[in-house]
Amino acid sequence: MSEKLYYEDSHLREFAAQVMVCQWDEGKGCYGIVLDRTAFFPEGGGQYADSGKIQGIAVEDVQEKGDEIIHYMKTKLEPGETVLGQIDFPERFSKMQQHTGEHIVSGLVHRHFGYDNIGFHLGKELVTMDFNGSFTKEQIRMIEQEANEAVTADLDVRVDYPSKEELEKLEYRSKKELSGKVRIVTVPGYDVCACCAPHVKRTGEIGIIRLIDAARYKGGTRVTMVCGFRALEDYHMKEENVLEISRLLSAKPYETAEAVKRLQREIQQGKDRLFKIQERYLEQRLREVTDGRRPAENEENGGNILLFEEELDKNAARRFVDTGMHKCDGVCGIFLGNDREGYQYILGSQRVDLREFLKAFHKEFSGRGGGKPQMVQGTVSGKREKLEKYFCQKY
Ligand SMILES: [Zn+2]
Repeated sequence: MSEKLYYEDSHLREFAAQVMVCQWDEGKGCYGIVLDRTAFFPEGGGQYADSGKIQGIAVEDVQEKGDEIIHYMKTKLEPGETVLGQIDFPERFSKMQQHTGEHIVSGLVHRHFGYDNIGFHLGKELVTMDFNGSFTKEQIRMIEQEANEAVTADLDVRVDYPSKEELEKLEYRSKKELSGKVRIVTVPGYDVCACCAPHVKRTGEIGIIRLIDAARYKGGTRVTMVCGFRALEDYHMKEENVLEISRLLSAKPYETAEAVKRLQREIQQGKDRLFKIQERYLEQRLREVTDGRRPAENEENGGNILLFEEELDKNAARRFVDTGMHKCDGVCGIFLGNDREGYQYILGSQRVDLREFLKAFHKEFSGRGGGKPQMVQGTVSGKREKLEKYFCQKY
């Protein structure tokens, strides 16, 4: 059985230990090493394993099996050898900031709303907590405010191993039928919970608790949190983004959202204007063809009206076909694109069954598409000249 040094001192960075077992693990592709004592906290409880080095060599993973903590390494160590273990303390400290923050938030949520934390995940960037209830934005803000009051109060984070009788009387979270001694972690006034992970010694070490998102999740709420240095990183990332947007829009940093809304309105107005211009242009073209004021480009098409354009708004194009099909005996069609890249087409007709028409048309121009007998759309590839001739022969 390995002595768990992280239980005695969560801030221990280095330790000397004796190698008890060193066995090749085929599945892991590593040596599984058991020490008589260790400060490496294994993976578990929604938290990933500590990283660090033993004898200057990287520890790839740490797992708990039964009473043993197994360190996985690429290099063999000799049983009986005394080795130096060093954990990656900045990473461990960050995890303790997040984890202790989670205790405070879950304790407050339980006290105010009676919800349980039913899922906890401490990832390398974010922490998520799943609660079996929902919150308003104001309630999340209130929890965050009170959690940070717990931080500024710089409270002692206590660890106790109460007797069976004491446990029965004690109100605490994560109450399960546990065999052996139960480790109770207390943040006075905020949370009492059975937990075996390392925590900061005083709440002041957490620095800051930020709840950055709360979204509906499986009938409850998934709250995303960052604490301490991670919150600082999150602040930097957001600040850089806001400053960049502010520069791009020539708006003050706290007025960027308003500036984006203005920009969106302007884009929409531009789109509306462009649509109207295109619509007017197409009306004009249609008049020219039907009035015979100017010979139609495709006069030889007889009863058809065909228009070729590089690019146009799809709705304006559809409206052209919709109007044009009532003004000719054959097919009214619009082709958007060019000979090289192909065309997107919309065809309309009062007389011709276009779904029937498409069968041969698609074969001839390797096309795709479909629609109703009166109106179809799709894509074709081929030369404009050939397309025009095709319609001319057909009708
Ligand atoms: Zn804990």
